[in-house]
Amino acid sequence: MADADMDLDQALESAHLPALLAAVVHMTGDGGWLRPEWTPTYTPLSRGDPGLAPEVQAQIRREVKPVIEAYLAGGSLRTPSPDRPTLRRMMDFVGGGPIPETYADFLIDEIAISGKSSKDPQFEQPKLKEAARKLSVLVIGAGMSGVLAGVRLSQAGVRFEIVESNPDVGGTWLVNTYPGCRVDNSNHMYSYSFEPNHAWPQHFSPQPELLKYFRGVAAKYELKKHIRFETRVESLAWDEARSVWRVELRGKDGRAETVEANAVISAVGQLNKPRVPQIEGVGTFEGPAFHSAEWRHDVDLAGKRVAVIGTGASAYQFVPEIAPKVANLKVFQRTPPWGLPVPHYHEDVPEGVKWLLEHIPFYDKWYRFWLFWMTTEGFLPMVKADEGWNGPTTAVGEANLGLREMVAAALAAQVADRPDLLPNVVPTYPVGGKRAVLDNGVWLGALKRPNVELITQPITRITPRGVVTADGTEHEVDVLLYGTGFTASKFLSGLKVKGRGGRDLHETWAGDARAYLGMTVPGFPNFFMIYGPNTNIVVNGSIIFFSECAVRYIVGCLRLLAETGAKAIEVKPDVHDAFNIRVDDANKGWAWGSPNVTSWYKNEFGRVSQNWPFGLIDYWRASLAPNPDDFVLTREPEPVS
Ligand code: NAP
Repeated sequence: MADADMDLDQALESAHLPALLAAVVHMTGDGGWLRPEWTPTYTPLSRGDPGLAPEVQAQIRREVKPVIEAYLAGGSLRTPSPDRPTLRRMMDFVGGGPIPETYADFLIDEIAISGKSSKDPQFEQPKLKEAARKLSVLVIGAGMSGVLAGVRLSQAGVRFEIVESNPDVGGTWLVNTYPGCRVDNSNHMYSYSFEPNHAWPQHFSPQPELLKYFRGVAAKYELKKHIRFETRVESLAWDEARSVWRVELRGKDGRAETVEANAVISAVGQLNKPRVPQIEGVGTFEGPAFHSAEWRHDVDLAGKRVAVIGTGASAYQFVPEIAPKVANLKVFQRTPPWGLPVPHYHEDVPEGVKWLLEHIPFYDKWYRFWLFWMTTEGFLPMVKADEGWNGPTTAVGEANLGLREMVAAALAAQVADRPDLLPNVVPTYPVGGKRAVLDNGVWLGALKRPNVELITQPITRITPRGVVTADGTEHEVDVLLYGTGFTASKFLSGLKVKGRGGRDLHETWAGDARAYLGMTVPGFPNFFMIYGPNTNIVVNGSIIFFSECAVRYIVGCLRLLAETGAKAIEVKPDVHDAFNIRVDDANKGWAWGSPNVTSWYKNEFGRVSQNWPFGLIDYWRASLAPNPDDFVLTREPEPVS
């Protein structure tokens, strides 16, 4: 928590001035604070710099200071809930320009100025509450999405149990403990919309802070009493005669148990099954070999010869951490990552910012609003494929080419003193083809170290002593680290799901997982997924936003059951199929859908099975509430044939 006696001048020095001015409008009730000459001018890579001259910034600070002092001395808020025209003006101002009217409701809902949001479960009528109490839900997983589902179900008054294979909550933030692991989405946005954290120590905090946050939310909402830890869900089977899911669990002691629930929500995530590549000889290496998500802290890397396979988001974070400790580091790269310049990636949140978030009413909302709006559709136009693009294959359109040139120049500047590295650190695939990482210089700094070698020769074999590359060299090492990602497109792997008529989900998918809005599949009534197929995002927003939308929709489906007295809700096949045709078609229009890109976003058939190809606003709209026409609602259980 920030110090209550913070020097105001110091706090104002670190303020995001547009957000602060919006807060001043709440204090004064005077929209005149949003002066045209104080409107921020952001640029794509400016990451929040309002582009105001230093003397203008100083003037703003001078003028707002007495207003804030008066408020802190016991003043009251003149306009806690501005009317819509005022809100629109505030949004335009903080966003740095007119925000299209189509976004207004979406953004107003996200910041929940009035304290109310469409994501709050709508179960307030006594009859509904009563019906909700009769439902039971089983949630698989207590990571970010499972904890969220638990919060919302408890608010709705629905009985639920969460089954988690790990001994604690946190999911990815519990499991990934590799050195340097941190969030790559601004933390003041990568947090539940209803649980802001004013004390994030860094803009992109390290893993222990994320884990602390999710543990804190689970504790605040008293979720632990609902969670069975160290228990696996092995299979689910829909009991048609009774319209319940029969769920087979296996505890840590190996004991099996069957439980029943009206509905099941999978919150198992996409990035939880490590992928160790199928390279000849894998497994023969005699020294310690492990994946980034299964980091062995008992293996001391100090003074060792270490090989890292993979240069994706995980390796990008741990390589700079281990490079100074090891004797020698060989980084095996198949494809370089795009690093977007973010100089403050590892920086602390200034104490002044924490203080403002905590003490200045609505500053936190507007600060989040700005972060949210900048990334809502912010980068999307720059990764959009131009129709009929016949420019270089290193880009998918004019804007994408412009972005490429900007980012490539930033990378090139970093290796000006090492021209040998240049051809290997600027990707040839379009920006946005894969997840870009955040660049504050430490990655290329590590690759430039004298004890680090970037190897781009393809790997042909792994031997008991090391890694052999196509040029025949055997690179002998003591420790082998896999930063090779996850089997993301194998959704729900390891979980047997038998739906209506004993239909198997994995056989239905045949390796090509699809769902309606990423959540529901025909033939699998009352079964929902959070962060399911085609709900991942590449350059915009945060997955927490998606999970919040999904949970709202799922709770809406439960509400439909409660309202109608139906026992089962099942998406219609034509609705599901038409949606998937739209998704596939739209995914072709983005950098990640380019035929020149291979990534974990595509499944074995080359279909983009991970990504949402529309705007955040489209997911928000589509998930506001289930349309009963999209579903078959079954009142009585189907007769058993
Ligand atoms: P990843 O992005 O899938 O990267 C895997 C790396 O391993 C790639 O460089 C890949 O090369 C390489 N690779 C795979 N198989 C290989 C083989 N047989 N030979 C040589 N190289 C091989 O995995 P990740 O780094 O674990 O990240 C996965 C996702 O997790 C990210 O995209 C992100 O969404 C999330 N993540 C987020 C953060 C964060 O900052 N919050 C941190 C870590 C991860 P190719 O590119 O050529 O396939």
